[in-house]
Amino acid sequence: MAERKQWKWADDPSLNKMEFTKLEKDGLDVIETIVNTYSKEGFQSIESSDMDRFKWAGVYQQRPKDGHFMMRVRIPGGILNSEQARALAKIAVDYGRDLVDVTTRQAVQFHWLTVESLADIFERLASVGLSSFEACGDCPRQIMGNPLAGIDPHEVLDTRPLVAELEKFFLLNREFSNLPRKYKISISANIHNAAHAQINDLAFTPAKKTIAGEEVIGFHVWVGGGLSAKPHLAKKLDVFCRPEEVVKVAEGVTTLFRDFGYRQKRTHARLKFLVADWGAEKFKEELINLVGELETEGEDLLKGWNGGYFYGIHEQQQEGLYYAGLSVPVGRMNAAELIELARLADEYGDGTIGTCNTQNVLIRNIPQEKVAAFQAEPLIVNRFKLTPNTFVGYAVSCTGTEYCNLAIVETKERMRSLALYLDDAVTLDTPLRIHMIGCPNSCGQRQIADIGLQGALVKTPAGMVEAFDIHVGGTLEEAQFNRKLNARITVDKLGPFLAQLITLYKEDRQEGEQYWRY
Ligand code: SF4
Repeated sequence: MAERKQWKWADDPSLNKMEFTKLEKDGLDVIETIVNTYSKEGFQSIESSDMDRFKWAGVYQQRPKDGHFMMRVRIPGGILNSEQARALAKIAVDYGRDLVDVTTRQAVQFHWLTVESLADIFERLASVGLSSFEACGDCPRQIMGNPLAGIDPHEVLDTRPLVAELEKFFLLNREFSNLPRKYKISISANIHNAAHAQINDLAFTPAKKTIAGEEVIGFHVWVGGGLSAKPHLAKKLDVFCRPEEVVKVAEGVTTLFRDFGYRQKRTHARLKFLVADWGAEKFKEELINLVGELETEGEDLLKGWNGGYFYGIHEQQQEGLYYAGLSVPVGRMNAAELIELARLADEYGDGTIGTCNTQNVLIRNIPQEKVAAFQAEPLIVNRFKLTPNTFVGYAVSCTGTEYCNLAIVETKERMRSLALYLDDAVTLDTPLRIHMIGCPNSCGQRQIADIGLQGALVKTPAGMVEAFDIHVGGTLEEAQFNRKLNARITVDKLGPFLAQLITLYKEDRQEGEQYWRY
């Protein structure tokens, strides 16, 4: 076990209970305990305080708490290779009842794991350069990025090396393994905001500035975004960050969060609360005190928002090469489909697969002469379509009561069938993004959807019934969260209600109006 840090907040008696758990034993220490003890001695041997620390290993108990676990695997920047995809598929088959979910942070999730399987899974992941560590917990989580980095005609810089540097710097770094709360970073140089900058604790977006007569491509820096019950849009700091300064700035922002973030209430601990109190100006001053002078803001290179969607076959930066954006309905696939995806990536592309924050996937680097054959592949024709129907293609869902202990209602299968229903009931010539979440935590990013559905319960003569609050008009183009309608709709009426709502929108919209760029 690593030497315990002497954190300066350790003597504060008003810390919340989880803070004492973290002070008693660092979250990362649980990994060793899982490997050496719990995976050998079984579920009953797990101490309750360690169960809270399992998150640092990327593992949560799943619902109902009967000895099974969910695991999240980091896919830095949303790019993995076919060997990694096959290793993930094999884990799903051997331990995870053949289920693979792509998440809204470009990670991959398993369900149904037992504690006995964890040591082997950690080893298998490490053998292909993947990790579940710190994919959950009060620490820097999966780093979000542009899944097209390096091939994207709409990017101004290849961010893959920066994602790798950030991942190397933060992963298992005990200086930052005890943050006040979860901490989410994104970095993308795609001009359409592919990594959803404004909803991250720390985000880097493309910018340019002339410095000493030379044009430099770099980043603007945003802090304090996040969703959950009290959503905040990140604030842009008046700084310009050169690519070589990204890790330094990320270290500085994370240090401010670690040392000044709030640790009294779990519901008031995210960086967004500190940023709201300090304001962008003071945050910038404190950052510069830590990391030294930074250039002031340059020219913003963000132009709108693509919603994180890349469907279809598209030209890359590289002449003669194409990428394929594929639909994975609500992000769920089985192992055979993932293996097939890996085969397609090898046979048609360069072996890399992109995971998108819309729970979809990409195949990268397909030569022009292979495009037609790729399009005719059964997986593409029948399952992961290039041009999905409007509602199936733009539906996002969190995990819900199927596996999540915090959920109030079922979501995943419900969102899938609701989208199928809407595709039958309504014809719409523009995409319309519907996000469904099972509780206010908003893992399915309800606030940024055109229509956001948030689970709730209503009392009826027949007892408590599952229902959804309806929110409309969320976007990260001229960013605004969606607004709640005065309507809580029980699940039996949800489909017809939405069909009517969307029909009204369709009749009422302005000429050429689209909810977002894509
Ligand atoms: Fe669970 Fe709530 Fe997150 Fe859905 S939004 S996965 S119900 S915590």
